[in-house]
Amino acid sequence: MPTFEEARNIVLESVASLGAERVETGRALGRTLAEDVSAPWSLPFCDNSAMDGYAVRAGDCRGPARLKITGYIPAGGTASVCVEPGCAVKIMTGAPIPAGCDAVIPFEETEEGDGHVGVTGNVTVRQHIRFRGEDVREGDLVLPEGTPLRPAEISMLASLGKAFVPVYRKVRVAVLSTGDELIELGEPPSSPGMIINSNSVAIAAAVRETGAEPVLLGIARDDLSCHAEKIREGLKADALVTTAGVSAGDRDLVREVLAELGVVSRFFRVDIKPGGPTAFGMKDGVPVFSLPGNPVSALITFEAFVRPALLRMMGRKNVVRPLVKATLTGQVRKKAGKVNFLRVGIEVRGGEYFASSAGDQNTGILRTMVLADALAVLPADKTTFAAGETVDVFLLGETVR
Ligand code: AMP
Ligand code: MG
Repeated sequence: MPTFEEARNIVLESVASLGAERVETGRALGRTLAEDVSAPWSLPFCDNSAMDGYAVRAGDCRGPARLKITGYIPAGGTASVCVEPGCAVKIMTGAPIPAGCDAVIPFEETEEGDGHVGVTGNVTVRQHIRFRGEDVREGDLVLPEGTPLRPAEISMLASLGKAFVPVYRKVRVAVLSTGDELIELGEPPSSPGMIINSNSVAIAAAVRETGAEPVLLGIARDDLSCHAEKIREGLKADALVTTAGVSAGDRDLVREVLAELGVVSRFFRVDIKPGGPTAFGMKDGVPVFSLPGNPVSALITFEAFVRPALLRMMGRKNVVRPLVKATLTGQVRKKAGKVNFLRVGIEVRGGEYFASSAGDQNTGILRTMVLADALAVLPADKTTFAAGETVDVFLLGETVR
């Protein structure tokens, strides 16, 4: 039985990035660049003013001086004439520096009147000018392939005139729930033993959170033909995630049908808790994840295996959540033998992370998942973790509540 890391490595070695597509830069947030992007021009494009003020010749301003105002360049304007000695041009932030000038004096440091501007001196050459190419030089490799696109990268792409960008395609992920006890959300339960199919919407949400696209296949009832029909449909997607029907005691319909349909099993158990009965296989480049049915286990194993795989398929180099060190606020115990994922609340005090158990760690307790900000990864062999000890946690969201 593979360990957590072995199993995750098997998954990551099995998947590859899908092809690329071109999308509008304005809609590329969260996508991953599929090609290197070099600068077609320099930024700034030309020397320009960093302040509202006067463009001058610094040499005219070695001491107090009175300069003739010979022009005005608004933002977006052009600097057509050379500024003669003893002259100044009123200039707005971002406007190109006119020929002859080598400094800008902000309005606050000047006095205007009678078509002239008075300055007190102390002007240094190059002050308050943004120079051509000081940000990016024409030809620079600015954004390498594999870069995740955040607002900053979108800003850079737009500044370089890239209206469209090549990004890795979104993974289409088929989501299938299995079990006779399930009813769809919104349907009236016909008996108290019925359970709402929360996994389909939860896994679909987790899929969307990675930037991929869920394709909901609904529920496969507990018979071979129903499973086969749905799974065959699911294998047409880029990835397939099923929940339930893989735990011991059940007749293992999911694995049976997957094998029949030619899915090559890579593992069918992992040495972790929760989430032990997680299976993974491949069919013609399509990864198939069979997650446990329990909603907590399904979400945790999605985090552990599916999310990294989907990110890799969408071109990401770094596919795991940020792992941080956190100090336990109370004692935690577990059995020896397996890596445990402990649902914890996180508090940040004085810039340091503190982790407290989010409550009952039984996999039947969904409430504890709701209260969790992070999962602490407790190593296999250790059984007792004292208050004050440091553990690795991976944060489930971008922020801690
Ligand atoms: P199983 O893996 O089939 O043994 O299911 C474990 C537990 O998860 C059982 O209590 C199931 O009723 C529950 N379960 C299975 N599938 C779902 C689902 N799609 N949504 C919510 N709960 C589920
Ligand atoms: Mg079942």
